[in-house]
Amino acid sequence: MLGMGAAGCAAAIAATEAGASVILLEKMPEGREGGNTRISGGIWFNSLDRDGMATYLRSLCGPYTLPEEIVQVWADETYKNTEWLEGLGVTPGVHADYKPEYPEMPGAEFYGGYLGVNGEMGQQLLWKALSAAVRDKGVEVLLDTPANELVTDADGAVVGVAATSGGQPLRVGARRGVVLATGGFENNPEMVRDYLRLPDSPVWGSPAGTGDGIRMAQQVGADLWHMDNMATAFGFRAEGFESGFYVSFVFARGFVFTGMDGRRVMDEFPRGGHGHGKFNGAYELYPAAPMHVIFDERTRLAGPISPPPELLPVGWNMLVEGYEWSEDNSAEIERGWIKRADSPRELAALLDVDGEVLEETVRRYNAACAAGVDDQFQRHPATLAPIDQPPYYAFTSAPLLGWTNGGPRRNERSQVLDALGRVIPRLYAAGCVSSTYSWCKDGGFHIADALAFGRISGRGAAAEPLA
Ligand SMILES: Cc1cc2nc3c(=O)[nH]c(=O)nc-3n(C[C@H](O)[C@H](O)[C@H](O)COP(=O)(O)OP(=O)(O)OC[C@H]3O[C@@H](n4cnc5c(N)ncnc54)[C@H](O)[C@@H]3O)c2cc1C
Repeated sequence: MLGMGAAGCAAAIAATEAGASVILLEKMPEGREGGNTRISGGIWFNSLDRDGMATYLRSLCGPYTLPEEIVQVWADETYKNTEWLEGLGVTPGVHADYKPEYPEMPGAEFYGGYLGVNGEMGQQLLWKALSAAVRDKGVEVLLDTPANELVTDADGAVVGVAATSGGQPLRVGARRGVVLATGGFENNPEMVRDYLRLPDSPVWGSPAGTGDGIRMAQQVGADLWHMDNMATAFGFRAEGFESGFYVSFVFARGFVFTGMDGRRVMDEFPRGGHGHGKFNGAYELYPAAPMHVIFDERTRLAGPISPPPELLPVGWNMLVEGYEWSEDNSAEIERGWIKRADSPRELAALLDVDGEVLEETVRRYNAACAAGVDDQFQRHPATLAPIDQPPYYAFTSAPLLGWTNGGPRRNERSQVLDALGRVIPRLYAAGCVSSTYSWCKDGGFHIADALAFGRISGRGAAAEPLA
């Protein structure tokens, strides 16, 4: 198994239970292993009905259809996640009352909201449970051991891995198979530019997701899928931190998004979620472009613009680096992460934006607030709060890249396929290195997918005949 996130842990546990002897190679050293799973919300969705969720997945994929076998297996296997976790000693519970993000889509009524360990979100709870189970099952875990290349035999079957352990070369033979569970490519700037068209996006999660598994799969001839799908959010990069900071205005609504020219660009509360928003009647990737975020003193004083651990205990900087965001955002302003000026015009100068344009943007938005009608973008009246109390503030969102979805194409048995659709013998993939999702996705979909296809990969690899 390569990678110790949800997919790698599920694969390792399933393979061990199927009788295989498992070695798990993990790139990062102790305290930094576990990928995005470690710092995630640890939420998996509650499936109320297999066929219903299959319908919902088909709806979410829209025109970017999946093979029907994959839809069925996804629905069947994600339905089993809760029971499987219980079998590991986890106590699942409902985390708040989350509704589907795409309620108008067929099948949405079978989405039963968020489940978490003890009904809680984040705090590394799910990852700790999974990694403890991996150790309990007797899996040999090699930390600080990035896999670099796959080793194949004369027939092209994958029979091992070339890695680096503690800085030294290491070759590990795989007598039954190799599972790629190395996460996404969000930390690989070249791949992010090539496939996602984001020029300079910081990441919300682990720095380890550099697309290694995708490169290894390509090395042995894998086809790729879903490379242009992702989940982004608002946030920014800050000097001295490998990962970026997430921003969401949960305490106040006096803010707008502008383009690089200082003009307001959208309804700041679009429908959708997890990387998509509905604009002009259709879903599109969102936020998918750099934007300036403008707010005022009232919004600054209302509370941290990066949600505190009591509300959202997730993210690399919060959970691994231990960064504590100040309650009134003053520390982040002092650090220069958030720009401050006495007027919109002066703020514009700091953003390299035309002063008159930004002044007009704020004036027009405030007029909409006063009228209770956003004639520009039809933002819901209940969310209209003016930006009129100086000083004024801004940061530029790149945007923040949550995670990527694309990687080696695989079949419903999690076997990696080559460009002609043939199985690459003894190679499996699961989780964000090769996620199921081709377009929209709801909350808890990614952990659910990683667990489901992680188990399928582990069982499949364990069932291969000995090489
Ligand atoms: C802030 C945040 C919150 C999220 N919350 C949720 C949520 O609540 N619910 C949900 O469904 N999804 C959530 N997601 C998405 C979800 O976390 C991921 O999609 C999921 O954890 C991916 O699991 P994975 O096992 O595929 O990859 P990861 O968890 O990223 O694990 C990959 C592992 O592979 C290792 N690795 C990388 N390269 C190599 C190599 N060359 N050799 C060996 N090891 C390697 C990494 O170090 C890492 O341990 C969230 C994401 C973020 C960033």
